[in-house]
Amino acid sequence: MKAHRTLLIKLPRDKCDVDYIRRLMALTNSAYHGFEIWEPDIPKTTQHHLYGSFMNYMGSLVFGTKPKRWFAETWVPLKTLRVYGDGSMKGDRSAPVVLDFRNNVIKLRQVCRNEPRYTVELPMPKWVVERLKEDGDVKYAMIGVKDNEPYLALVAEREVKPYQLSGYVLVVDVNSWKYGIAWGLIKNGKIITWRVEKPDTFLISTLYHQAVDRERKVGKLRRLGYSKTVRVDRIKEQAQARRSKIYRITRDKAYFLASKLIRKALKYRALLIIDDMTEESRRELLEEGLPRDVIKLLMSNLKRFVHQLETLAQWYGVPYEFRRLPSTICPICKHELTQLPGRIMVCPNCGFKAPRDMVPMHWAIKV
Ligand SMILES: [Zn+2]
Repeated sequence: MKAHRTLLIKLPRDKCDVDYIRRLMALTNSAYHGFEIWEPDIPKTTQHHLYGSFMNYMGSLVFGTKPKRWFAETWVPLKTLRVYGDGSMKGDRSAPVVLDFRNNVIKLRQVCRNEPRYTVELPMPKWVVERLKEDGDVKYAMIGVKDNEPYLALVAEREVKPYQLSGYVLVVDVNSWKYGIAWGLIKNGKIITWRVEKPDTFLISTLYHQAVDRERKVGKLRRLGYSKTVRVDRIKEQAQARRSKIYRITRDKAYFLASKLIRKALKYRALLIIDDMTEESRRELLEEGLPRDVIKLLMSNLKRFVHQLETLAQWYGVPYEFRRLPSTICPICKHELTQLPGRIMVCPNCGFKAPRDMVPMHWAIKV
């Protein structure tokens, strides 16, 4: 099985002609629909690469498999040449992307601007070196425009064999950040470890209230006619900075947790079960009467977490599956559970009792 991981690198805008990249994207799009359009003013080599690469990509990672979020527009597939420390090379010698490990640079030839022999150099990201250490190879790259900015996407590929399961099961329950991401390690019908992981919710709440205070102040000053002053701009910036900080906190937590859980799965050679209950969690927060913008912050980067968990599972060969595990139905007698204060669930029929986030683990034991 081939696994892929992608890294997005923002390209220097002053060195890249966004309109030219857009043209290449349009040509790629037509290639996707089966047309080969030869533009007289674009270098032939670039177009050869485009259509040649395109054929290589058919049924490969870019087209045919599920597109990554940022590939909604057609990105331009590019071959790479890898030049290693000992001078050996892999790939097409005339490839538009050169990964030069001797000088630790990436060279983009002819794809950033429509000028003969135009080359852009970027520092080699640590990410690439790390993927190489894991037997990965960056055979492909893509160039494209996202939010009006030019980007290079490096695609690492690796041949993986999922490991033999040891009987351990790692269940990951994705809730909102308010109640955290719950995980449990199960073996022989027993929950061995169980934890709920959360970012610093106190800090999030403090930052949120500081942002709201400042936004109110701005509204007040505006009503008084001070909408275009330096002071108003500064307060607005402070509010925005706090909201961005919250977003960064949840994003870092998402990446940290995904990597921690994959390491755990690898250590125990566990089957990974992902229970994505973000929609249910959103409803729970709505029922609690939380403001919509608070809910948005408490749900931020959870999709990214699930995506990252899945990407890493594929990359390291962790067998995984998505499964819905109920948290409001009794795992013993299937009776509806009643919720007590402190999110404790009780079965009025058989007396089963557990914290709400632990109920799915009991279901996982059964299946
Ligand atoms: Zn019951």
